[in-house]
This record gives sequence, C-alpha cells and structure tokens, in this order.
Amino acid sequence: MPRFFVSAESIHDGRAEIYGDDARHISRSLRMRIGEPLTICDGVGTDYNCVIEESFPERVVLKIRDSYDNFSEPPYRVTVFQALARGDKIDTVVQKSVEFGAARIVPFSSERCNVKLSPSDGLKKAERWGRIAEEAAKQSGRGIIPSVSAPISFDEAMRAANLCDLSLFCWERSSNPLGNAIRGASADTIAIIVGPEGGFSEQEAAAAENSGIVSVSLGSRILRTESAATFVLACVSYEMER
Ligand code: SAM
Repeated sequence: MPRFFVSAESIHDGRAEIYGDDARHISRSLRMRIGEPLTICDGVGTDYNCVIEESFPERVVLKIRDSYDNFSEPPYRVTVFQALARGDKIDTVVQKSVEFGAARIVPFSSERCNVKLSPSDGLKKAERWGRIAEEAAKQSGRGIIPSVSAPISFDEAMRAANLCDLSLFCWERSSNPLGNAIRGASADTIAIIVGPEGGFSEQEAAAAENSGIVSVSLGSRILRTESAATFVLACVSYEMER
C-alpha cells in the first residue's frame, strides 16, 4: 500500500492533509481515487491507516481509520559515520543504511578520501542524500526519515561517535572480530565508522583507539567502502533485533 510521511501538524481532528509533490504523486502519477486506502507516518513513530476523502492536484485530504505504533524501528539508534567516497557510493550507503535500520548517516572526510567537498557543495550533497533517505524510508516502511548531515571532519566524527554507547571502528587490521563486540551487547546508541576506498591511515586508527573507540574486523575479506556499513547493520540487526 502507498505510504507517505506527513508532518504531525497536518494530522488533526481525525484527518490528515498531504500537499505538494506527494499530493501530485497521489492524484496524478498514482491516479488514486476518493475512498482508496493509503498509509501515512508522522515521522516520529506512529502510522495511520487512512482513506482518501478529497483529492486536488496540490492537496489530498485523508480520513484516518486507525493508528498504531510503527513496528519497523529497531530498539537502538545507529549512526553510520561514512568516509566520503567517489561517484555515487554515498548514495548507496544512504539508501542501504536506511533500509537496514540506521537512524542517522554522517559523512566525514579523512586523510585518504579522494573526494574533497567545499562547505556549500557538502550542503548540496546533504540535500540530495536527504531525498534518497526519504525515498528509502518510504520504500522500507520506516517510522522515521533518517537524517543525513553535511560532511564533517574526522576528528568531529570521532568525537560524535564516542558519545554513543557502542562505537565500532571498522579496521581491516583489527584482531577483534565484530561478533565479539556486539554479542550480548546492550546499547541504545551505536556508531559504525567506515573508511574511504583507500582505508584509514595508521594515525587515524590509533587516534580512534586512543579515544576509546573499539576497532573491529569484519572478517577476512576486504569489503568495499559502500558495503561495509550495510554488513555491520545486518549483523547488529541479527544480534540485537530478535
Ligand atoms: N584498506 C583497504 C584495502 O586494503 O583495500 C581499503 C579500505 S576498504 C575498501 C573501505 C573501508 O571498509 C575500510 O576503511 C574499513 O572501514 C571497511 N572495511 C572493509 N573491509 C573490512 C574488513 N574486513 N574489516 C574491517 N573493516 C573493513
């Protein structure tokens, strides 16, 4: 069933209203009619079963049938700290991280990043990545739209990751298997930190470890930068989302 995010403000008196692109998508692309059902989500964890009551090109009015807690959010909040990478790799990281339950994606620059973004380009990229996150959240039935920030520095990323209950620095030279770090772990907030195509420098790995962040190995194969976070999210979901 089609699913749309609406602001909590547009839900009142047993009705909800959808405007702009989504309204046009419903009335023109999907050609949905009065009486047809659709699901909306307020972006803070509640879903609503609705039927279309009125339909205009720029505005659709829905009658709410019932509401329930969105059941697709994991019992923890993961932030994916992803080093900048070439091409559309970060688009892939954003899409897959949303599907696999991340709450936030924070790109960052590191020593071996091949991509350098100016602050204005970083903001433009963050807008694009935000749209990818919203589409992935709709498609996967998420209860929130995960946020994607503009790129920050390596040091800022490590400081932010350290605020999480469990921080996982993905380092192919680590002798600490990921499974050891997450088995039986009880963490409300988790950071996953992934390096660029060229990997982290020794200095960066040492800085992360000295700040108290756990480095973990993802096994004997070298994963692409755009695959690593998804791998960790899947393992965390298997271990902590039973
Ligand atoms: N240094 C790698 C190499 O030798 O080809 C290149 C880095 S890898 C393509 C990109 C990032 O994915 C790494 O910085 C790391 O964060 C993560 N990663 C990939 N494979 C990993 C593994 N087996 N264990 C831990 N982290 C891994």
